[in-house]
Amino acid sequence: MEHPRNGRAAGAPAPGTNGSGPTVAPGSPPNTVVMGAGPGGLCSAYVLSKAGIPTVVLEKAPFVGGLARTIKRQTEHGEFKFDIGGHRWFTKNDELNDLFREVVADELLWVNRISRIYFDGRYVDYPLKISNALKAIGPFTSARAMADYARTRVAHRVKPVEIVSMEDAYIDQFGPTLYKLFFQRYSEKVWGLPCDRMSGDWVSQRSKGMSLLTAVKDAVIPSKGKVVSLIDEFMYPRDGFGRFSERMADGVNAMGNDVRLGAGVDKVHCEGNRVTAVTVSTDRGTERIEADNFISSIPLTLLAQIIEPSAPADVIEASKQLTFRDIITVNLMLKKRQVTPDTWLYVHDRNILFGRFHEPKNWSAAMVPGDENTSLVVEYFCTRGDHIWTMTEEQLVEQTVKHLINDMGFMTRDEVIGGFAVRAPRAYPSYVIGYEKPLGKVKDFVGQFENLQYIGRGGSFRYNNTDHSIETGLLAAKNILGEHHDLDQVNADKEYHEIKRVEEPVGAGSHA
Ligand SMILES: Cc1cc2nc3c(=O)[nH]c(=O)nc-3n(C[C@H](O)[C@H](O)[C@H](O)COP(=O)(O)OP(=O)(O)OC[C@H]3O[C@@H](n4cnc5c(N)ncnc54)[C@H](O)[C@@H]3O)c2cc1C
Repeated sequence: MEHPRNGRAAGAPAPGTNGSGPTVAPGSPPNTVVMGAGPGGLCSAYVLSKAGIPTVVLEKAPFVGGLARTIKRQTEHGEFKFDIGGHRWFTKNDELNDLFREVVADELLWVNRISRIYFDGRYVDYPLKISNALKAIGPFTSARAMADYARTRVAHRVKPVEIVSMEDAYIDQFGPTLYKLFFQRYSEKVWGLPCDRMSGDWVSQRSKGMSLLTAVKDAVIPSKGKVVSLIDEFMYPRDGFGRFSERMADGVNAMGNDVRLGAGVDKVHCEGNRVTAVTVSTDRGTERIEADNFISSIPLTLLAQIIEPSAPADVIEASKQLTFRDIITVNLMLKKRQVTPDTWLYVHDRNILFGRFHEPKNWSAAMVPGDENTSLVVEYFCTRGDHIWTMTEEQLVEQTVKHLINDMGFMTRDEVIGGFAVRAPRAYPSYVIGYEKPLGKVKDFVGQFENLQYIGRGGSFRYNNTDHSIETGLLAAKNILGEHHDLDQVNADKEYHEIKRVEEPVGAGSHA
């Protein structure tokens, strides 16, 4: 677990304060209301707090961090910690990297990444490295993969095709054989729909510029120049990714602003093209909070539905056409030293219901009580009301244990100390074919309010990782401070996410 770049600095003050105390006069009425205390919303509040702007963050849940939180579970063996699916920090943006380092400070670790795909009892490196993938599928299938890829390229050159679906995009980039072997099964697990019903946008957002051709070229003629790969190692807070949000919230509070938990926004009140106030529900009743500026990281679909006066019927209808995929994580606590050396293991087999798992101890030793323990976070992609979502916690834990013991041989029953499930709704905005039209309608409506900005992942209905989620939060805060940024341009570039400057292995882009 020791990494040469890991070091411990002396105890740091709450981030942003430099030990110099609050920058916002106590009791000031809020200039800005931020809805949602995930990393996106907290980033806005953190930046505004540093600039001395009175800000209040309103969070429905009793905790901060949203999808990027870390959950603690006390047992007789000690404390286990679990992210909602492992969250690694990676970005190409130096300003965001600096912010992450500033916030996480002395809790920062560097972690080596080794991820693999498990399919039909075999292992292949993830993201796919071409030589490794072809070796795993054998010479006959490799030859077929190369031949049908070549045929596809020629056919698309003679008669260019429009890339509409996820299937079109994968076949265009990798050919039909590799698509079926490495992309189709897993994508269908993640999205719960056939790849020909999902938009090709997700593939282009995650792996633009990557293809079998570029991978083969790179394998034969290695790229010149400095390769900055974001794949092989990443930053992670020692006690779980949730510490990033917790420390931003600490900073906001220490600078004199407020992060209010258990305060769900029920209504957003408007007059003309300005938002004037929000109504929140707390355990003490409802409260109206007025401000000059509003930043929302709550699901964009929900935001459109709670604006008053109410949005036109076609906007409400459009907001209902946009769907999210949900996730359940089953967290297992084990009396075993290690299950696999992987950072993540992607499980393609259709008979295994879950899609991926990670072993928190491989990220940070502090995630488990001691060296004789380990744990797993097992991810089930699902949709509220489907056969997975409706399983009880007991059934989910039992199903997980059975797969891991009987199908994968990773543990024995007496090594399992216990397990529990966490349900995270609206984890993935679903780019179902045709989603652009309703999304455009909702954005046009919400975008007309000049002092309301929407940010983040669900908040923008964009497949943003934490870096892009906080980038929108950062830019929204800067807009309030007088700059002019178009938040819709964030994560709109078409370059492969995991590589800075020069490409390396071929992959679908890790999904997160
Ligand atoms: C399984 C999984 C793995 C991931 N792995 C990675 C990874 O490795 N690296 C990475 O960078 N990113 C990863 N991500 C993405 C990351 O979680 C998101 O980018 C990030 O959490 C988005 O932050 P956010 O603030 O926009 O939204 P959220 O984290 O969703 O926060 C939104 C907040 O709004 C609150 N809210 C909702 N409704 C209301 C309301 N009415 N009133 C008040 N508050 C409300 C919610 O409770 C929540 O706290 C992963 C996501 C998932 C699901």
